[in-house]
Amino acid sequence: MSNHLFQVPLTKLQGVGSRKAEELHALGISSVGDLIEYYPFRYEDYRIREMHEVKDGERITIQGMVASMPYMQRYGGKTRLICRVTVDQMLVTAVWFNRAFLKEQLTIGREITLTGKWEQRRRHLTVADSEFPDRGAAKSGTLQPVYSVGGSITQAAIRKLIDKALDQFGAYIPEILPEQLITRHSLIPRREAISRIHRPENTKSGQEARRRMVYEELFLFQLKLQGYRATHLKKSDGLVQPVNNDEIRGFVGHLPFALTDSQKQVINEILHDMKQPYAMNRLLQGDVGAGKTVVAAVALYATIRAGHQGALMVPTEILAEQHVRSLGKMFEPYGIQVALLTGSLTDRKRRDLIASLQMGLIDIVVGTHALIQEDVFFRSLGLVVTDEQHRFGVQQRSILRRKGMNPDVLTMTATPIPRTLAITVFGDMDVSTLRERPKGRKPIKTYTVKHELMDRVLGFIRKEAQQGRQTFFICPLIEESEKLDVQNTIDLHMQLTQALPELNIGLLHGRMNAAEKEETMGVFAEGKTNVLVSTTVIEVGVDVPNATLMIVMDADRFGLSQLHQLRGRVGRGEHQSYCILIADPKSENGQERMRAMTDTDDGFEISRRDLEIRGPGEFFGTKQSGMPEFRLANLLNDFEVLEQARDDAAELTSTESFWSSQAYEPLRDFLAREAKLRDEPLD
Ligand code: ADP
Ligand code: MG
Repeated sequence: MSNHLFQVPLTKLQGVGSRKAEELHALGISSVGDLIEYYPFRYEDYRIREMHEVKDGERITIQGMVASMPYMQRYGGKTRLICRVTVDQMLVTAVWFNRAFLKEQLTIGREITLTGKWEQRRRHLTVADSEFPDRGAAKSGTLQPVYSVGGSITQAAIRKLIDKALDQFGAYIPEILPEQLITRHSLIPRREAISRIHRPENTKSGQEARRRMVYEELFLFQLKLQGYRATHLKKSDGLVQPVNNDEIRGFVGHLPFALTDSQKQVINEILHDMKQPYAMNRLLQGDVGAGKTVVAAVALYATIRAGHQGALMVPTEILAEQHVRSLGKMFEPYGIQVALLTGSLTDRKRRDLIASLQMGLIDIVVGTHALIQEDVFFRSLGLVVTDEQHRFGVQQRSILRRKGMNPDVLTMTATPIPRTLAITVFGDMDVSTLRERPKGRKPIKTYTVKHELMDRVLGFIRKEAQQGRQTFFICPLIEESEKLDVQNTIDLHMQLTQALPELNIGLLHGRMNAAEKEETMGVFAEGKTNVLVSTTVIEVGVDVPNATLMIVMDADRFGLSQLHQLRGRVGRGEHQSYCILIADPKSENGQERMRAMTDTDDGFEISRRDLEIRGPGEFFGTKQSGMPEFRLANLLNDFEVLEQARDDAAELTSTESFWSSQAYEPLRDFLAREAKLRDEPLD
C-alpha cells in the first residue's frame, strides 16, 4: 500500500533493538507497517458471562469471590489446586493444574475472574487463566487477539509490540480507499478498523472492522487484476470482428432446436466482445449438458464470416472427434471447412493439414494439445475456443493465443467453478454463465447401491435397452496403472457380455488406438451398441443424447466433480435419465460424496460441496494453483463482498480520472508496487 509506515524500521519502536527486529523478521515482519498489519487469526473471548447462560463444555470467563480456603493435591510430580468460588450466588469449584504459587493469593472474600472449561454436572471449572481485579485484570472482559507466532516471540510479546506500534504510529495509518466507496458501503476509516482488529471492544465493533478490511483486501485484489487488464488492453490491438446480425440469425435459425434464453444472452455477450477493438478474454461456464458447444459454434461462425479462422482445443481425442462431427454437420451447408488435428495423424496428413491451415484452406481446426505445437500456423486466427478448460494449464492456453494476432479467446468449462472462485482465479476474464439447461430436460435420478445388487443393476440395463435407450458403464481409473485399468475394463466387458447375451456391448479404453476409439464411439453414438463399457476416457464432453443410464463402478474412488461430469453424459435428451453409483458403503469419505450426488444434480452446488470437502488448493489441482491467499478474507464466506469489490474495481478502473486524478494516487501507487513485484512494467 502506499503507506510510508512500511518504510519505518522496527527499531523505531521503543524497546525494540536489532535482536528483536531480527526475530520479527523471521515472522515476515520487517517494518512498523508490517507489524500493524499483522492481523490475529482468531480471538480468545474473556468477556464475563453469567452463570445462567453458560453451557456444559464451554470455555467461559466468570467473575466471583473466593469462598473457601484452597487446598492442594499432589500427584506424580504435578499439583492440583482446588478452591470454591461464589459466582452469581452459585458455588463453583475451580481447579488449577500446576499453579501451586496461587495458593497464597486465594484469600477468602477476594474477587477473582476465572477463564476455563465448564463442567455443568459437577459445577467444575478447569481454570486456564485467572486474574485478580484488585491487581488490574487486563484480559478479563475483553477479546484477546491470537497471532501466529514462532521462535522466541510469544503471544504476549507480540500483543505488546503491536499495542506499542499502534500507540506510537496508529495516527499515521493512511486511508487508501476512495471516499465514494467508503460512503457507498458505510465502511469505518482504515485507522479505526486496523486498531479495532487488534483490540476489538465487542463482537460488533470487531465485525465492522473485519468487514472494512476484508472489503479492502478483496477490492485491492480485484484492482490488481483489473487495473492490470485495463492498462494491458490500452496497448493491445485486438481484432475488430464485424458481426452481421442477420447472418447470425440465419445460422441460428437453421439449428435443429431453438436456443435457450441463457444461450442467447451469452452469445450476445461474446459477439459484443468480438466486435470491440480489444481482445476478448471470456470464460463461459455452464453445467454439463447446458449446451456450450452451440454457443462456441455461433462464435466460430462469426469469426469466419469476419474473414478469419477459428481453433477449438479440447482435452481428449474422443471429444475432438465428436466436435468435428457435430460442427462439420452444422457448418457443411455454408461451405465451411472443419478439420481435425490430433497426435494420431500420420506425419504426411499432419503436414498437409498444417499447410492448408497456413494457406487458409481450412476454416476451423479442432484438436487436442497437438494444436499448440510449434509448427502449427494459421493464415489468420480470429478466435480460439478452449473446451473443458479445467483440463488445461494456463500456459497451454496462452501458447495457442499467441498463434494469432491477439485473437479473441473464449474459454469454456463444464466443471462449474463457484462464481466466487471464477472471479478470483479468472478475475482478469469476463465471465458468462449458462444458467439454464435446454427445455424439457428432466433431472437425472441418482441412486447409490452396493456391489451385491449387481443383478438389479443388470435388470435396469435390460429395461432401458428394451426401450431403445443406451447405457454407459464406467470402470474406475486405477491411479498409476493404466494396465490394470484396461484389464478391469476388459473383464467387466466380458462379464456383461455373458450376463446380457441379448445385448450389444461395446468396449472403450485408453490403450486402443485412435481409429479403434473413433469406431467404437461412432457405433455407440449411432445407437448400434446398447452398452458402452469404458474407462473415464469419456469423462468430459461426450454427447450421446440417447444414452439414459450411467453406471459408475466403485464410485467411491472418484472425486465429486468427476462423478458429476460422468453423470453429465446422460440426461442430454428428452428422456428420463438415471445414474447408478456402485459404492462401498464402508468408505466414509466416499459416502459424503455419494450423498452430495444424490442430494443435487446442480453442478454449482456440487462444486461448492467439492470445494468444502477438499479445500481450494486441491480443488484446483496443481495446474490451477494460482490461488491467492488472503489474510482476512475467506472465499467461502465472503463471496458477496468479492463480487461487490469486483464491480467496484471495474467501475473505477474504467474511468479516466482513475488514471489521472490526485485522489487515486494511493491506489495507483499500490498498483505500481504490485506490478514491480510481478516484474511487469505497467505501461
Ligand atoms: P455441454 O454444455 O455439456 O458441452 P452440449 O453443448 O454438448 O453440452 O449440449 C448438450 C446437448 O444438448 C447436445 O446434444 C446439444 O445438441 C443439445 N442442445 C444444446 N442446446 C440446446 C437447445 N437450446 N435445445 C435443445 N437441445 C440443445
Ligand atoms: Mg461440452
